Amino acid sequence: MYCPFCLGQDTKVVDSRLAGEGVQVRRRRQCLSCHERFTTYEVAELSLPKVVKSDETREAFSESKLRSGIQKSLEKRPVSVEQIESAVNRIKHHIIATGEREVSSLLIGQWVMEELRKLDHVAYIRFASIYRSFEDVHAFREVIDTLEKEPPVETAKDQLSLL
Ligand SMILES: [Zn+2]
Repeated sequence: MYCPFCLGQDTKVVDSRLAGEGVQVRRRRQCLSCHERFTTYEVAELSLPKVVKSDETREAFSESKLRSGIQKSLEKRPVSVEQIESAVNRIKHHIIATGEREVSSLLIGQWVMEELRKLDHVAYIRFASIYRSFEDVHAFREVIDTLEKEPPVETAKDQLSLL
């Protein structure tokens, strides 16, 4: 970063220590041109980005909204709370990993579909039917086709228990 005094581009770190109970790193830097010292604080950017909806409005990311959407699709399906939680965590990880300040709800929906496809095919179709609203028969056919290309979840499980 530039020196705040002379805007020189080269600075060196002369001291580095944890601050703010370990969630920050405090660095003393010295400018190589004017030799002034200044302090920077480094924190990890873990706040989740804003969600851009299809009508272009923005809203804060809501983990509980994400979870309840997934739960609704999985109603009365043989999927455990832990499986749902790890799906929620993987989706949150995807969102944070974009490093963007805004993420489209469309993209989040795709990650949800990916998780549901692995968890339960019925839930996947339920979610997809709302998410893609199935304006036409084509879209529905597409979803069914992606399922037919992979082995059913139940069969995969049965095979595992036989090993
Ligand atoms: Zn300077």
